[in-house]
Amino acid sequence: GLRIGVLALQGDFREHLRSVEETGASGVGIRRPAELEGLDGLIIPGGESTTIDKLARAFDLAEPLRARIKDGLPVYGSCAGMILLADEIADPATDLAGEPQQTFGGLDITVRRNAFGRQRESFETDLDFKSLDFSATDDGVAPVHAVFIRGPWVERVGSEVEVLAQVEPADPAHASHAAPLPGTARIVAVRSGHLLATSFHPEVTGEKRVHELFIRMIRGEA
Ligand code: GLN
Repeated sequence: GLRIGVLALQGDFREHLRSVEETGASGVGIRRPAELEGLDGLIIPGGESTTIDKLARAFDLAEPLRARIKDGLPVYGSCAGMILLADEIADPATDLAGEPQQTFGGLDITVRRNAFGRQRESFETDLDFKSLDFSATDDGVAPVHAVFIRGPWVERVGSEVEVLAQVEPADPAHASHAAPLPGTARIVAVRSGHLLATSFHPEVTGEKRVHELFIRMIRGEA
């Protein structure tokens, strides 16, 4: 079976490990560089991107991870994990020494952190999500119930990046946000080759199809 690592420095890695096991793959928590060996894929969980960045550098994981992503290791990032996969952060946090947060990168996108505004930093909505037709029923593909917890959105996608889901401007979950560009759909799920990222947390709702999509990407079936 497949062996899927879940970066286990901070955040909701336990929930991702459970989601991985539910697909039939084995999940393994990753805290040290040596543990990156022999993985078929890696998940970067939700949490706090600045903390995961700091810990990854302190544990000497950041550089090997960057290299593995460049080499083609399939990686799925949710929320903070999306931020850590992004090549660029629109509004990076700086630490007390004034140093901006870093990412592992690999995904040609620009993300904005905590993007959905202060009034409703956390919300839930239903999304049309491309690439999930493998589990289509006669009624078509059921929407993905998405939980956002101070999540980012994607402000720029490179030419190789496919948009999988957006929060539409007509969605009441969108309307109340202090958006710099009101009336604009917000990209919340993307794929580029072996990399997948969502602004929301399928691992907390029992939604299995996003993890199944990731497994299918690893198998070359999607
Ligand atoms: N706001 C967090 C960050 O910037 C992400 C929140 C999450 O992962 N739920 O890292």
